[in-house]
Amino acid sequence: MINLTLLGATGSIGQSTLSVVDLHPQTFNVFALSANTNWQRMLSLCEKYQPSFAVMTDEVAAEQLSQRLQNDTTVLSGAKALETIASHTYTDQVMAAIVGAAGMASSLAAAKAGKRIMLANKESLVLAGDIFMQAVKDNNAELIPVDSEHSAIFQCLQGGVSGLNKIQLTASGGPFLHTPLSKLTSITPDQACAHPNWSMGRKISVDSATMMNKGLEVIEAHYLFNLPAEKIDVVMHPQSIIHSSVYFDDGSTLSQMGNPDMRTVISYAMSYPDRISSGVPALNLTKNSPLEFYPPDFNKFSCLRLAFEALKQGGSAMGTINAANEVAVASFLDEKIKFLDIAKIIEKTLEISNHFYPTCLSEVIENDRTARLIASKLIQFYV
Ligand code: NAD
Ligand code: MG
Repeated sequence: MINLTLLGATGSIGQSTLSVVDLHPQTFNVFALSANTNWQRMLSLCEKYQPSFAVMTDEVAAEQLSQRLQNDTTVLSGAKALETIASHTYTDQVMAAIVGAAGMASSLAAAKAGKRIMLANKESLVLAGDIFMQAVKDNNAELIPVDSEHSAIFQCLQGGVSGLNKIQLTASGGPFLHTPLSKLTSITPDQACAHPNWSMGRKISVDSATMMNKGLEVIEAHYLFNLPAEKIDVVMHPQSIIHSSVYFDDGSTLSQMGNPDMRTVISYAMSYPDRISSGVPALNLTKNSPLEFYPPDFNKFSCLRLAFEALKQGGSAMGTINAANEVAVASFLDEKIKFLDIAKIIEKTLEISNHFYPTCLSEVIENDRTARLIASKLIQFYV
């Protein structure tokens, strides 16, 4: 049995991971689960999967959970406990599916403990890519992407990187691909979260609507595949059938296709290098035609432009845009600022923040904290 630690068990990726586990009960044992505040959902997960550990980051929620749990599951609380279960001796695989910078320390703990890390939390790489990749290398950890684009590229590169010319991330364009910029001023959170192809958590759904998600993914790809910004391309593909492509010097292009369902990506990460069933139906190409492709509009989707800029600046710039984005998206979801203000706040935060090259985790964390403060102050001018 493979012992699985699932960080972010109550989220969208968490739920899809458990549905893959349900198909393979003889192969995967749910060893530990984590969630932030939703103890009710965690209670039912603990009753079903009987994990050895359940972590609630929120202390009050942990208390509520432990009062009601009738089994042998040990309940832990606080952010440090995430690191405990991620690096536990009995943990074989860690699904890192916490949203935002809050997922960084536990992903890093899994890397330092030499685990198989199935990384959905792309923010870990955006914030601390150099430190994270070094920890993976130093500790012989196995890093498998859990992002449809990066999984596609990872799959296309199984034959090696000889003659690799560039990679190309596909982007659906989210709900506003064909909406003119002038109409984006009055977008509501529910409209922004109504993704045409993928069902996801609210933060990443807004990121998809602004295309900051693709921007974060460009940075994620830079670290995962060790490529400079010039070798990372983005193409709009509204059907989300081609998940990404790699281009070789000999004129060959390899793409990975499938229905837009994260269970394919998750099951591949859990079973790599083998493949197991995921519950996702086979692709029917005739039902999805025609497949369309367009160049991205960097003027309308200025978050994508800002992410490329941050990658080219390097160092703290990437953590800065990530922090400003998290603060701005939360304010937008709270209906405090407008949709188009998100990019303005990120751009201004990047402009004001000190640029430097973090050499340790505490500098990364300090930069994240400062950028959040700057973004929060800027937001006051927009509310
Ligand atoms: P979600 O909002 O549905 O779930 C987030 C999970 O993180 C929940 O279990 C929540 O309890 C936990 N969490 C939230 N804040 C926390 C905190 N401060 N401390 C500890 N735990 C906390 O998000 P999601 O859509 O499942 O996305 C999770 C991650 O996967 C994100 O980094 C996202 O970018 C990435 N991702 C998601 C998808 C997708 O299809 N949903 C695809 C690719 C990558
Ligand atoms: Mg993606």
